[in-house]
Amino acid sequence: MNVLFASSEIFPYAKSGGLADVAHSLPNELREVAKVYTVMPLYSSVDRKKYDISYSGFSFDIWLNGTKHQIDLYRQSKNSFELFLYNPILCDRESLYNDSFGDFGDNQLRFGLFSYAVIETMLRLELKIDAIHLNDWQSALVALLAKTKYHLTQKIVFTIHNLAYQGIFHKSAMNELELNWEECFKSDRFEYFDQVNFLKAGIFYSDVITTVSPTYALEIQTPSFGHTLESMLITHSHKLKGIINGISYDVFNPSSDKNIYKNFDIQSYDLKLKNKTKLCKELNLSEPNRPLFIFIGRFADQKGVDLILQSLHLLKDFEINVAILGSGERYYNGVFTKLIDKYPNIHIRVGYDESFARKLYASADFLLMPSIFEPCGLNQMIMMRYGGVPIVAKTGGLKDTVVDFSDSSNHTKEIGVGVTFEEYNLFWYMHAITKAISLYSNQKKYIKFAKHNMSVDNSWKHSAKEYLRVYR
Ligand code: ADP
Repeated sequence: MNVLFASSEIFPYAKSGGLADVAHSLPNELREVAKVYTVMPLYSSVDRKKYDISYSGFSFDIWLNGTKHQIDLYRQSKNSFELFLYNPILCDRESLYNDSFGDFGDNQLRFGLFSYAVIETMLRLELKIDAIHLNDWQSALVALLAKTKYHLTQKIVFTIHNLAYQGIFHKSAMNELELNWEECFKSDRFEYFDQVNFLKAGIFYSDVITTVSPTYALEIQTPSFGHTLESMLITHSHKLKGIINGISYDVFNPSSDKNIYKNFDIQSYDLKLKNKTKLCKELNLSEPNRPLFIFIGRFADQKGVDLILQSLHLLKDFEINVAILGSGERYYNGVFTKLIDKYPNIHIRVGYDESFARKLYASADFLLMPSIFEPCGLNQMIMMRYGGVPIVAKTGGLKDTVVDFSDSSNHTKEIGVGVTFEEYNLFWYMHAITKAISLYSNQKKYIKFAKHNMSVDNSWKHSAKEYLRVYR
């Protein structure tokens, strides 16, 4: 089985969220049994030297709408299956998709070009590929091009990591990307309220659609979670499947993680406390024996950031410590920045910091994840791996990976134990936090659940097999 896996971000080269983690860990797991090429843009932010990425000596041109775009192929020196595509329009930006003023105005050209380049690379290198795996709107156009321009026979698998981001652009992209109006600009395909929608093209033109948890696969077929595409997803539900994400057990491993203060595993669980003590000292959080609650994530509505903000003035009076790490929408960055140093028991850091995130996971007792919707969510799985208890809204992948600690009839070795709440509002969120505090006061019970979570298998072992079945 030979697979070409295209993604706009892959850890550790470039990451804005969970997509990068998945695009690293799933292909790695699949490589045990299949030949998997990964391909991503070689953004100028990627550290070529550190990661040993060098020019392959191979370049080609793509002509679009009278303009020539040169694509240079790079490879990772130790793993020649990791391919990178460089073109200045696609890659020379300070970040992946947007800056503080919003989305880049030419993303349709950047990722349209990327999609052409993925196919051209496969054809020009004469890679023998059985399945092409696309991820989110940034590579979705490959499906349209494969079916309408290149007439490829490979199976096209398209994974929706988050339906909220669809890649919607002015219809002038049709000409810019030399697409066939008659074939593609139709309301059941690429057209979307007189614009174009890359994700819609992925849904229509791929052979199989997957999304990142079974619950999210059902949710997106309803108006509350369908982001206006629910009818289309119902129409294509015969080819839609929910496969739960895993996490890399090599990258996220408390017994070997070099970012954390003190390594530990289930047997040496007590050592986790050393992490918390050190972290609290560094962050000036007093009384490290208090439960430590963390939030790590994108500052966006989806992540329940409003609830986090509304709760802070209540949590300041609780006998707990809180640490928040995140960045995202300009408005939220501003609000959180203003709150830095406001409450002695609440540490806030605005930014993206992989190493600090690991320290937080290694130290935390509870992870806050009050998402409005959550396609899968990786944080709760990482928290479990690092011996903590997640507090989650009952939605999407959170529902598939965490059961409430009081729901003992559903405790099995396959699923994590946490605190769950159903209604997205401050009352139920605070109720969940107070339940967590009372759980923590019974240390024997808390540690039993924390250790249980460390033993749950959230690796890719099972889900990678499901992807292999999908490729076939
Ligand atoms: P998303 O919807 O953002 O993709 P996921 O839960 O799928 O959310 O994945 C988030 C990933 O990004 C996790 O590995 C998490 O630890 C990481 N992450 C999110 N925000 C930050 C941040 N500010 N600093 C460091 N890591 C972060």
